[in-house]
Amino acid sequence: MSHVFHRHLKQRYPTAVSGEGPYLIDADGRRYLDACGGAAVSCLGHSDAEVVEAIREQVGRLAYAHSSFFTTEPMEALADFLVERAPEGLSSVYFVSGGSEAVEAALKLARQYFVERGETERRHLIARRQSYHGNTLGALATGGNAWRRRQFEPLLVEVTHVSPCYAYRGQAPGETPEAYGERLAQELEAEIQRLGPQTVMAFVAEPVVGATLGAVPAVPGYFKRVREICDRHGILLILDEVMCGMGRTGSLFAAEQEGVSPDLVTIAKGLGAGYQPIGATLVSERIRAAIAEGSGFFQHGHTYIGHATACAAALAVQRTIESRDLLSRVRTLGEGLQGRLEDRFGEHPHVGDIRGRGLFRGLELVADRDGKTPFAPERKLHAAIKRTAMDHGLMCYPMGGTIDGQRGDHILLAPPFILEESHLDEIVDKLDATLKSVL
Ligand code: PLP
Repeated sequence: MSHVFHRHLKQRYPTAVSGEGPYLIDADGRRYLDACGGAAVSCLGHSDAEVVEAIREQVGRLAYAHSSFFTTEPMEALADFLVERAPEGLSSVYFVSGGSEAVEAALKLARQYFVERGETERRHLIARRQSYHGNTLGALATGGNAWRRRQFEPLLVEVTHVSPCYAYRGQAPGETPEAYGERLAQELEAEIQRLGPQTVMAFVAEPVVGATLGAVPAVPGYFKRVREICDRHGILLILDEVMCGMGRTGSLFAAEQEGVSPDLVTIAKGLGAGYQPIGATLVSERIRAAIAEGSGFFQHGHTYIGHATACAAALAVQRTIESRDLLSRVRTLGEGLQGRLEDRFGEHPHVGDIRGRGLFRGLELVADRDGKTPFAPERKLHAAIKRTAMDHGLMCYPMGGTIDGQRGDHILLAPPFILEESHLDEIVDKLDATLKSVL
């Protein structure tokens, strides 16, 4: 019996012992093509020599220094790197150890910003159903996934949720994408009015929804309208790019493709690419200035803020992505993957939708294509797909979400940026074999 408290206590896991580019290798020598980067993490694959060397060098010199005593060179350099490339207005970076912590920091920064300004009545958060923002209590309260929240509801602060921008199911027949986006923007406006505009603190959304919907981008213009509405009411816009950021969709920040500048952006996963655990919250100048010129102290913190080794690893990851021009590779490979998925599954009776951006792609599985009827939850399709794909030597990220009360299934693909074209064929072949076995 394992003494590790594994998340699934009735399941046995193979032991991963090494990594080789886009493959993970287990103790029996079996190779798995990592087509989901674990959970959209390993964007550089598993054995990047430059990153390994940067970690070795940093850990040998200075592994860690507590942020209440010192700043460090890698933390400063990583902040410079990110701010230089971030959407307009973001001027500083608060470093944490992962995505949920980044979201918690964003929520507290939003609240403290308004407290510093004397707008203490601003306390309401609005987010979207079918979103995931992490598993710590504040982040879980913000997320709108009923299944993840269910048993913890009594512990969650109140956050109201509006509809996600989910064209496959939400756009009405005959409605243009623009009209659909406008309808959703009006829903947000109505919710702000219901709560009272002066009481709303922030609107939180993933630019491309990851874990709960499976790589769903918004319709054109939606985020611009959201930004306008937030601005009109003095509400902060928090974009959660923990999964879709750091190049995953083909631009360093997913917000770039929406043409909006958020007030706070959360990143993690691809930031350190799994070489070290690290996350961050990028902060707009007006928030930084309000706190700097007010109390001068952000009332929040963790032991591992700006961990020197984690920052050195993330800096090496990001410099490597830039020096090898991997973002243009993400765009090209992403188109190649979408094309292959459409060729192979475009007419599949149980694939309702194939979507995404860059190397962030999703397939929605349905019992009936015409009616878009989800599979019955009792089938536990996601578990069967994950297991079967592993048997075929493929890691993909299937999830059973909840679609307005009903459960739905999708498969998320988020492979490393270093793939060759031949790996795209391998992904599609192995996925095809998996779906043939399971469906
Ligand atoms: N936000 C988003 C959009 C995520 O996808 C995730 C994780 O999947 C999180 C936050 C939480 O990140 P972590 O698991 O690193 O705490």
